[in-house]
Amino acid sequence: MNNLFNEIVNEIKRFLSKDPCNRMDTGEADGKGHSPFDAAERIWDEPLIGAARGDDSIFETFHEFVDAAHWLPHEALASGGFAAKPDEVSVISWVLPQTKATKDDNTKETTTPSERWARARFFGEEANTKLRLHIAEFLNKNGVDTVSPVDLKDWKRVESGRFVIFSNWSERHIAHACGLGTFALCDGLITPVGKAARFGSVVLRARLSPTSRPYARYDEYCIYKTKKLCGVCIKRCPAGAISENGHDKRKCAAYLNDMAKVYTKEHFGFATPACGFCQTGVPCASGIPGSK
Ligand code: SF4
Ligand code: SF4
Repeated sequence: MNNLFNEIVNEIKRFLSKDPCNRMDTGEADGKGHSPFDAAERIWDEPLIGAARGDDSIFETFHEFVDAAHWLPHEALASGGFAAKPDEVSVISWVLPQTKATKDDNTKETTTPSERWARARFFGEEANTKLRLHIAEFLNKNGVDTVSPVDLKDWKRVESGRFVIFSNWSERHIAHACGLGTFALCDGLITPVGKAARFGSVVLRARLSPTSRPYARYDEYCIYKTKKLCGVCIKRCPAGAISENGHDKRKCAAYLNDMAKVYTKEHFGFATPACGFCQTGVPCASGIPGSK
């Protein structure tokens, strides 16, 4: 089934290269009546893509580390109306890396997000949604039952006692399962192309070869977690939401909702929870710290 994996990889890359949704200048009003960006500038750079088997035991561990309500892959597929056994199912996950221009812009900021970063958060996430739905449609049309879990009506993000907020399909956990990265002090996912990225996935009824997970620990790439080095994201966070104990989701959410959405609406013409200070101007922004 590696031919199918290669076809999916090619379709994801083709979509990101050709579809106008992956353009920094979306033609949308930017609050100033113009866009300062080149029409050809991409929001997302070349993606990284991985796969996992539906019967991989790592998915069961998410019941402990995310929530008991986190879907197993075959449960997500069933929620979309396709019954299948765990070993008949696979997951495809992708990393959408921020471009150098976006990271450079946000690195210069200290309290409020740059316009490029805000556009990537708002229009880039719309592009990510469009990509998920496009890949699901592409596979369904080719006779492979597929769902985009976060677009299913039963997908939910809710308050949880232990982890404050959880969703029943966590894109970062799925990317971790697909060999694409490990968790950071700030709860982001450090990938081989860095932490400045967003994530997406689909579940399909097919047996794909899994991508290897080249890590033994869930937090192996964060050098604060493994060696007590770095901690730069603690200083970068404008909300004081990161400490040596980890990420305070309530403080982070307060900054994103009370400050970032208001600021982006006022300055760029759309309200979005953009921040990204823990993903830019840090040693893990564009790669695994210490790997080069
Ligand atoms: S900036 Fe440093 S401490 Fe923070 S997540 Fe990255 S490697 Fe870990
Ligand atoms: S997203 Fe912003 S507020 Fe939240 S932890 Fe990262 S730097 Fe802090």
